[in-house]
Amino acid sequence: MTIAVLALQGAFLEHERALKKLGVDFFEIRQAADLTTPFDGLILPGGESTVMGKLLHELHLFVPLKKKIQAGLPVFGTCAGLILLAGEVIGGSVHFGTMDISVRRNAYGRQLNSFYTEAPFEGIGTVPMTFIRAPYIASVSGDTRILARADGHIVAAIQKNQIVTAFHPELNDDLRIHQYFLDSIRARTTVSNSNL
Ligand code: GLN
Repeated sequence: MTIAVLALQGAFLEHERALKKLGVDFFEIRQAADLTTPFDGLILPGGESTVMGKLLHELHLFVPLKKKIQAGLPVFGTCAGLILLAGEVIGGSVHFGTMDISVRRNAYGRQLNSFYTEAPFEGIGTVPMTFIRAPYIASVSGDTRILARADGHIVAAIQKNQIVTAFHPELNDDLRIHQYFLDSIRARTTVSNSNL
């Protein structure tokens, strides 16, 4: 299995460190030519969604990546990555818009620029959650399923091939959410092969 990590801006190195620890092959997507390497899953890291959105367009990555996600490419978006996938963005613009979630950007206000908590994540147990100028998911629709809530807000969700967290699992040593993403890719591959 090979994972592509969008490496235009933000916390991509921390995701790569997690993948290295899990023994998974990965490479960085920085330009359109990188898309010629086949990959089984994509990580959209935290950072600044407006900057990433702009760079995705300038580097001609936006349309091909959106098509792949729409076609079922497994994708894991953290924080700004979640905002890139959201179908509705309160306080910001829609980018890929491929996921049936409404997201509130910079949702916790200035006093709570960053904070740490722990909360249950479906199928995993209690996980560490580091939030940095984080969004939260205001609502989900369609077949989107809530995976975690913290402080009364939805902070993780899944819809078919798309998994998102409002926090940064890559900033803690706990690898279980990355493992969850990799397991979901293996499960999807098994299902599609058995449908052949
Ligand atoms: N506030 C950022 C945005 O709107 C997200 C912050 C993050 O990724 N840590 O894109």
